[in-house]
Amino acid sequence: MRLFLSVFLLLSSLTYFPHQHEAKYIILLIGDGYGYNHQQAVNAYTGSVPPYQNWPRYWVSTFSYGGSYDPASTWSDFDYIKQNPTDSAAAATAIYSGVKTYNAGVNVSFEGDCLTNISDEARLQSKATGAVSSVYISHATPGAWLAHNENRNNGFAIAAESLWGNPTTTMTSTLTYYEGGICPIHQPADVLIGAGHPQWKGANFVNWAIREKLYNESGNPGSYHFIERQTGLADAGIRLADLANNPEVTRLAGLFGGAGGNIDYLHADMSGYDPENPTLPQMTSAALKVLSRNPEGFVLMVEGGAIDWACHADNMDLMIGEAIDFNNAVQTVIDWVDDPTNESTWQNTLVIVTADHETGYLNTFYNQFPNQPPTHVTNATLALEKTISGTGLRASWDDANLNDLIDDGENVYWAWNTTGHTNSLVPLYAKGFGAAYFNIFNTMGDPERGRYLDNTHIYQVMRWAMEGYMPFYSYLPFQRVNNPVK
Ligand SMILES: [Zn+2]
Repeated sequence: MRLFLSVFLLLSSLTYFPHQHEAKYIILLIGDGYGYNHQQAVNAYTGSVPPYQNWPRYWVSTFSYGGSYDPASTWSDFDYIKQNPTDSAAAATAIYSGVKTYNAGVNVSFEGDCLTNISDEARLQSKATGAVSSVYISHATPGAWLAHNENRNNGFAIAAESLWGNPTTTMTSTLTYYEGGICPIHQPADVLIGAGHPQWKGANFVNWAIREKLYNESGNPGSYHFIERQTGLADAGIRLADLANNPEVTRLAGLFGGAGGNIDYLHADMSGYDPENPTLPQMTSAALKVLSRNPEGFVLMVEGGAIDWACHADNMDLMIGEAIDFNNAVQTVIDWVDDPTNESTWQNTLVIVTADHETGYLNTFYNQFPNQPPTHVTNATLALEKTISGTGLRASWDDANLNDLIDDGENVYWAWNTTGHTNSLVPLYAKGFGAAYFNIFNTMGDPERGRYLDNTHIYQVMRWAMEGYMPFYSYLPFQRVNNPVK
């Protein structure tokens, strides 16, 4: 048996992994708030399953520092998972740095220490780093990929640190929103594309000083090539692609946005698109193009950030629109890896698709089990969604007597059971070099979901993949993926 195993290990290492030593490219795609029931609802609406959802699927716990996940309570007490959910900053910190922190912490530990995240480690290896988001470029999820701050609300500091390595770059007289940067000044990002252009709504995330610096320095040696939303220029996707295709561009900053602070929402039927902004797939494609000019490889985070915002609004129509955009961004990455004309292959690239947490407690039922995904999601049922009187929550149901209440006997298609986040396990899909590492951590048990791992393990997998670590048992054929539930 031992001999067989040795021979098997030798053969498999020769056969399956002939030249690969590490993941040259790591691409992490986060659908913010994009829980399992949401994915199933989107698929019910579109009538199709995105290819990445056929990859090995894992379940991930998301709680922040001091929290926990109790599988038994999740499935016996309907309100349990509404308690103490993570926010996007703590979740991002756990995923990128491998450390649980307090909600609002951005790569800063509960004790106040600066945390090294996967981008920092990539920079040490001379890899390029980049982030793309459909919301503010310095919002929690993209911000934590590139910056470190005591509080996610210090958006100017997070933007400045992401872009120039120093959280006080562009600060003049007032400290407001420039505070909280406690880490050493580091090398800036290479690509950052997203929303928050102050002409539309920069809020506390992007101000004019940041935009002016990008604009004035655009194309200077060592500086970003800058592209922005411009009124009347309804070809943002083409302008962005043209810039990214310029072989001289190795650093690119794109600032787009809309009145809500995000790239304008897409509806489920794909209406709402304003061509003054690029789509998430277009931003992703540009980032891949520019980052891949670094001969050492890169790490890239792509966030479908407005999925979460639509879920906070309990709005299925907008959630589906944003989720389809996100699914398309994942497909853009898959197509890039599959493209034989670039250096990326599944032997040197790790792609991870997950959510940082669930938002909205989306369920087939209002305020009761079972917790299961909606199946009747159509334009007709989308049109029925409205607020349940006295709850502040929206649902879709046949309100026969039009009293805005879900009465006995009325058919419910879905209900949002909170306007906040939940502590639910979220799905994760992975493919490429190092994806099998997730099996090593997939050891905890949930009565409905089967085995699950923790969001801090995502950092561990990315780090191992980047460093080329290959635990011997990841070669074994009996890997635990998609374990039978229950
Ligand atoms: Zn949220």
